[in-house]
Amino acid sequence: MPRARSKPYAETFRCPGGELCLDFCNTGHGLRNSTQAEWLTSYAELVSWLDTAGAISRKQAAALHAAAERSTESAKRVWSRAIRLRDAVADVLLAKTGGRAPADEDLRLIETEYARTAPCARLLPSGEAFRWSLEKETTELDSALRPVLESTISLMTSERMKRVRRCGNSTCYWLFLDETKNCSRRWCEMASCGNLMKVRRHRERHRGAG
Ligand SMILES: [Zn+2]
Repeated sequence: MPRARSKPYAETFRCPGGELCLDFCNTGHGLRNSTQAEWLTSYAELVSWLDTAGAISRKQAAALHAAAERSTESAKRVWSRAIRLRDAVADVLLAKTGGRAPADEDLRLIETEYARTAPCARLLPSGEAFRWSLEKETTELDSALRPVLESTISLMTSERMKRVRRCGNSTCYWLFLDETKNCSRRWCEMASCGNLMKVRRHRERHRGAG
């Protein structure tokens, strides 16, 4: 749900989307067409967000923070690429949930960033299967984009794409994965939009009765 960012993200941190790329989109959705402050205002905040979301390890986060301090200009550039990527992913997913065709340029941007960050990823055995991993202490600034891109591509090319929804509150642009059996989830979060809508409906009923 769109909300003012009065506290550092770590204190207000919530990840209800059910998929890293959706929660990444949700760090920006509330801001669309509004004057609210950006949630991820720097490369450092992007890295801290990934760390809090469990997308990278503490060690990776520490290495990326240090690398960003060494090359502030490059970090700024990667941060703005991250924000552009976030907008492209959000626009594609919102188009899909709204029954519209996604913009070709958004798809090309996702594709380009996926290819560009590919050298950061290592394919490692993981239990019975395999997984993509960033090198333990990578100092490649680009690697901060990789977990989000892997999540985006994996979601977009899977059956789970059918379960991506936009919050039922018309003023909320948050996205989530509806994992209920009967596809009945309507709100990004019960505690915010769900309750807000409940109160609104209650008021309307009350007004109707009066
Ligand atoms: Zn919502």
